Amino acid sequence: MDLITRGSNVIMETYKRYPLVFDKGQGCVLTDINGKEYLDFVAGIAVDSLGHAHPGLLKAMQTQMEKLVHISNLYWSEPGIELAEMLTKESGLDKVFFCNSGAEACEAALKLCRVYGKLKKNKDAVEIIAMEQSFHGRTYAAITATGQKKYQENLEPLMPEIYHVPYNDIEALKAQISPNTCGIILEPIQGEGGIYPADPDYLKEVRKICDQENIVLIFDEVQTGIGRSGKLFAYQQYGVVPDVVTMAKGLGGGVPIGGIIAKDHVAEVFKPGTHASTFGGNPFVCATAKYVIETLTNPGFFDSVAEKGEYLKTQLEALKKDHPSIQEVRGMGLIVGVQVDADLAAIVAKAMDKGLLLITAGSNAIRFVPPLIISKAEIDQAVQIFSECL
Ligand SMILES: *Cc1c(COP(=O)(O)O)cnc(C)c1O
Repeated sequence: MDLITRGSNVIMETYKRYPLVFDKGQGCVLTDINGKEYLDFVAGIAVDSLGHAHPGLLKAMQTQMEKLVHISNLYWSEPGIELAEMLTKESGLDKVFFCNSGAEACEAALKLCRVYGKLKKNKDAVEIIAMEQSFHGRTYAAITATGQKKYQENLEPLMPEIYHVPYNDIEALKAQISPNTCGIILEPIQGEGGIYPADPDYLKEVRKICDQENIVLIFDEVQTGIGRSGKLFAYQQYGVVPDVVTMAKGLGGGVPIGGIIAKDHVAEVFKPGTHASTFGGNPFVCATAKYVIETLTNPGFFDSVAEKGEYLKTQLEALKKDHPSIQEVRGMGLIVGVQVDADLAAIVAKAMDKGLLLITAGSNAIRFVPPLIISKAEIDQAVQIFSECL
């Protein structure tokens, strides 16, 4: 029996998978079990920030693995402390909580703002405002905050007191705020929703309102964070600092690690017993993530991401001339969406055939989220294949 049949027999159908079985990866190239190579512009959905089989990352993983993989958060170990020191220093925020995924990071942030509301505003301050077309993950609070009905089907009743307003619409947001609002959660660039960046003025205004009304401002940077925008966090591109930022995807270079970083006045409402995670921030994943952050914060790295992102956008923009189906090129750094008026699934399938992995975003865009170590030559190659598929 072939692998795909065997897999379908025993693995739940939570993903519509392509008929591809990958065997190994090197840099930005994946190889399937038949030996065919693919240029990887999906990167495990913005996860494999340093590509595949990165020698330094492998070494950091092996070194830590041989010393200590997991203890409990009942005890201390060095990698988590060092990683948290780096993240707080680079983010301008104060305290970290580690978990294992993006949904868990959003879950932690949503719990944190509710506890904050009850303790620091009033006992009824439990209302959370999220954005339409957002995505925050699959756990119950995260999927309730997610502003897309298709992900919530048959899951009702959802979490109470989570409301949605249109993104980038300050009046709609103001109209939803009440004395019982404890938190606002939004992505500085909506990822799964279709690569829609926030308007700079909007983010500044949201920050001002949260300060005035004592509301916890959460930026979900699970996809946009950890260098993808050309800075460690996309909010640093906007000059607007949240009270809580979530992170996951790119943080571990492929190992499952997530987390939140919060300002002290918010973080302090979490006490022993309020929240926890057995695996969260174990020595192995933290040593791995530490290597990722060290690499990203090397002088020039973020600039190279920003520059390659601009290059990618320029090359994609240039395709408009020959391909009127391209409506818009959106994004920042190496998270780029191309809105195409065409059958997106067919484009992805054709690209795959030609050895390029792409993914859609929202209902109208093709997403480019390669490893941050992608080269200009590889960008050229991807743009060439993409143009052939249009
Ligand atoms: C992917 C994503 C999540 C969910 O992350 P998981 O690791 O799949 O739970 C949450 N928020 C955003 C913005 C994401 O892109």
